[in-house]
Amino acid sequence: MSGTDLLELSGLVAGYGRIVALHGVSLTVRAGEVVCLIGRNGAGKSTLLKTVAGLVRPTGGRVLLRGQDISGRPVPWRTRAGVALVPEGRRVFAPMSVHDNLLLGGYGRARKAIAAGLADTYDRFPRLAERRGQPAGTLSGGEQQMLAIGRALMSAPSVILLDEPSLGLAPRIVAEVGDIITGLAGAEAGVLLVEQDAAVAFRLADRGYLLDRGHIITAGPTATLRDDARVRSAYLGAHPAPGKQHH
Ligand code: ATP
Repeated sequence: MSGTDLLELSGLVAGYGRIVALHGVSLTVRAGEVVCLIGRNGAGKSTLLKTVAGLVRPTGGRVLLRGQDISGRPVPWRTRAGVALVPEGRRVFAPMSVHDNLLLGGYGRARKAIAAGLADTYDRFPRLAERRGQPAGTLSGGEQQMLAIGRALMSAPSVILLDEPSLGLAPRIVAEVGDIITGLAGAEAGVLLVEQDAAVAFRLADRGYLLDRGHIITAGPTATLRDDARVRSAYLGAHPAPGKQHH
């Protein structure tokens, strides 16, 4: 990528009617990076991912993909251009087989590209290969998360947006999904990871941003963010110490 940002958000303003969820947010993701976006419930994290994916229209600012403004482009165009969202709650199609869920992720691509995508996905996720004929609804939470990631990879994305992938998973599975996430960043791909659990995010990410009520409050390498007083105070506020919440 020779220094070009894969994804650049600049002064992004977005929301829902009169509710402004993002007040001029700027951030970047470069190839090879896992970048985390942390913040409390309602901070605007999902809105930011949806705005990059094209599900929410910004009212101000820009979304640049490899330097090109894609703010006005529809979702399928962005998918083809390399933006993939793994939504919160996985959203796999429970009655459909693992295989058919994956095929949906490759929709619109050439037959050869789909075959290659399937081979790659089954290579990466042997448990999905074993369960390819099973309805997705019969998979464990961790396997469904892998399927949601696998489905996103079927479009050969370069910007992978992950919304709370560890939510509701047992710690052992969080670690397994974490290894997969760090493996997604590569020579031509970067990951933007939304996490409410800052500890999980910091284990996986190279850099991060703290979002609070639609504003980026602080940003930097995770090693620095971890000790940032603003991060600590945001999370202390979100999770009062045991015994203190009722006083
Ligand atoms: P969570 O971890 O709960 O998903 P978040 O940081 O992802 O939180 P968002 O879901 O982006 O936050 O929400 C940001 C703000 O936008 C909140 O005030 C929320 O109530 C509001 N909001 C989100 N979705 C909608 C919607 N569909 N219609 C109206 N307001 C919404």
